[in-house]
Amino acid sequence: AQDKRESLYVLSTWASKFFAEQLWKTEMGQVIGLNYFKERGYREDIIKKFELGYSPEEWTALVDKAQVAGFHPDYLAASGLAIERDDKSLYDRFRGRVMFPIHNLTGRVIGFGGRTLKTDKKVAKYVNSPESEIYHKSDVLYGLNFAKKAIMEEDNCYLVEGYADVLSVHQAGVENVVSSSGTSLTTGQIKLISRFTKNVTILYDGDEAGIKASLRGTDMLLEEGLNVKVLLFPDGNDPDSYVQKFGATAFKDYVKSNQQDFIFYKTNILLRDANNDPIKRASVIRDVVESIALIPDEIKVSVFIRECSSLLDIEERILLAELNKIRLNRAKKA
Ligand code: ATP
Ligand code: MN
Ligand code: MN
Ligand code: MN
Repeated sequence: AQDKRESLYVLSTWASKFFAEQLWKTEMGQVIGLNYFKERGYREDIIKKFELGYSPEEWTALVDKAQVAGFHPDYLAASGLAIERDDKSLYDRFRGRVMFPIHNLTGRVIGFGGRTLKTDKKVAKYVNSPESEIYHKSDVLYGLNFAKKAIMEEDNCYLVEGYADVLSVHQAGVENVVSSSGTSLTTGQIKLISRFTKNVTILYDGDEAGIKASLRGTDMLLEEGLNVKVLLFPDGNDPDSYVQKFGATAFKDYVKSNQQDFIFYKTNILLRDANNDPIKRASVIRDVVESIALIPDEIKVSVFIRECSSLLDIEERILLAELNKIRLNRAKKA
């Protein structure tokens, strides 16, 4: 099994070199892939640092070359780089896409994300490697290998939604940034972050999906004892589009002045949706106290209770009573 894992690492590294070579050294790669990255505003040094690539618009470009290079078909299928047909023949999973290699903590390639260049809504925007013996999605954060040093230095980790966000924010000089790449946050990913810092700032897309995602997952961060701040980007922007449009300084200023503690953020979003409806307001109060009750630090809990009492316009003792009720119920369940 160890041998198999090692072979999959070797194949993945080989494939990332193949995609990079296609990007830099072939006419199609340059005209289509490299131009795409440059038009999105990525500098060459960033494209190289993140080992970005291009997969040719062909059925077996990678499969053919890998077999010539001596890789066994079983590994091509096991890595997810190739897909097996009913007749056992193989074809490339990634075709005509710009490629983002996914690295583990030590910087070895373990999988890929590929973005289509087509604007056709029927084509999946991103295709990702499936789970494999070396790629466990729930234990991986895109960009962490490039970010870990800065995360420790800044004692803070920015969490974004996508590959493009990681690249643009990193390029802007904010290197403590990682992405869960479309999957909702897992405990494995949170444990990974908490090895480097206890402070997380969630920078999600300013769309409905981003708001929903920011409210999910965060309870897990609180339970893990992390300090969670949140910020949404305005008018449907995401960190990538914002920083590319307005520049690095504006981005940093926006983040600095708009990040909010998660509890206040959640309270405000829920209150906004409740529209003064008293029944909805009551459920907002319960919902917010549910989150506060997850925080292991009693001092923080009492600060949040006090602040939320004024935000929600409700007496502190009522919030405290609710808090105790929730804790008692949880203790009974445990
Ligand atoms: P771009 O800026 O290139 O359009 P994005 O990162 O802003 O991409 P979103 O639509 O905001 O794209 O999605 C966030 C993340 O969710 C993506 O980076 C990707 O990891 C994942 N994702 C999006 N669409 C798909 C899809 N069709 N299949 C699988 N994963 C997807
Ligand atoms: Mn989005
Ligand atoms: Mn985007
Ligand atoms: Mn986005």
